[in-house]
Formats: sequence, C-alpha cells, structure tokens
Amino acid sequence: MKKIKCLECANDIELESKDYKIGEVIECPFCGTELEIVEVKEGGDFVLDVIEEEK
Ligand SMILES: [Zn+2]
Repeated sequence: MKKIKCLECANDIELESKDYKIGEVIECPFCGTELEIVEVKEGGDFVLDVIEEEK
C-alpha cells in the first residue's frame, strides 16, 4: 500500500493501488486539503502541491 503524507495536517494518506499521473488530485480524508501531483519521481514517489482554495 502506497502512502503519502499530507502537506497540511501531516497525516499519512493511503492511496489506491493504481497509477497516478501528474495533475491528478488527491483529497486528504483527514483535513480535506486537495493535493495535486506535480511530479512523479523514479521509484514512484510523488511531489505534491497544495491546491489553495479561493475564498
Ligand atoms: Zn490533511
């Protein structure tokens, strides 16, 4: 099971077993922050960026 760490609340988010691509958005189930995959590194690690909500 692949996991990422939420940039906002630092909880581990378990990911579905599928191929993620750049531009896909993962919503943190703990705090609701939307994280966009901006880069997929060799080895499968993601670089994430927080999508800021406009208010
Ligand atoms: Zn979070």
